Amino acid sequence: MVKRGEALYRGKAKTIYRTDDEKTFIIEFHDDLTAFDGKKKSSLEGKGYYNAKISATLFKLLESHGIPTHFKGMLSETEMIVDAVKIIPIEVIVRNIATGSITRRYPIEEGRRLVPPVVVLDYKSDEYGDPMINEDIAVAMGLAKMEELELMRRLALEINQILVKFLDERGLALPDFKLEFGRSKDDGKIILADEISPDTCRFWDRETGESLDKDVFRFDKGDLESVYREIARRIEL
Ligand code: UDP
Repeated sequence: MVKRGEALYRGKAKTIYRTDDEKTFIIEFHDDLTAFDGKKKSSLEGKGYYNAKISATLFKLLESHGIPTHFKGMLSETEMIVDAVKIIPIEVIVRNIATGSITRRYPIEEGRRLVPPVVVLDYKSDEYGDPMINEDIAVAMGLAKMEELELMRRLALEINQILVKFLDERGLALPDFKLEFGRSKDDGKIILADEISPDTCRFWDRETGESLDKDVFRFDKGDLESVYREIARRIEL
């Protein structure tokens, strides 16, 4: 069993810890939530548990389809054991249905199906306000090599196909989601990292179109606990 060491990074939703093995980190999932660049804050008992469980299930699903992820196992209900990586500060966003920022920034109406899916890259930076970038800007900034960016795009689209099918069988649509990749501290390979949860994905009930994700918190759309519980329940079906 790995032993938790010092905290490397403390965020609102997660803390990343070193362990006694330099190739392994622990991610602890918290109950705190923020939205709108941290301007809206709250806490929801059990959210850390649900997000850890949902992420673990989806990482295992992706691994079973050959996607390299950082997931190694669970240390407790809220602590995930992962491969140590250096995160590449790019949010890879995949969109299947137009909603959120794409409908505010561009003349694309809410609810439009995006076929083929749209992949967007945002530079993760509080200082610069997470601006959208492209592959050339990422290379110019030295964030990644072109081959790595091409791999990230290919993996993101493959992950999208796997998740869409899995969720569809559980009565859920996946309008969009965000991925983060890292370079393994072991061999430098690009692997999927971070989390896949209602904090980072939009999930809609396929029949009613109801939001079952963090939008319920962002826009006060209803009872938040029941949303995380419902996603955890459907994903385990
Ligand atoms: N997202 C995320 N973290 C971010 C920005 C976006 O997890 O910092 C996710 C978000 O939950 C959604 C998708 O990426 O599933 C697309 O978000 P969008 O650009 O529409 O942002 P928003 O409308 O929330 O401002």
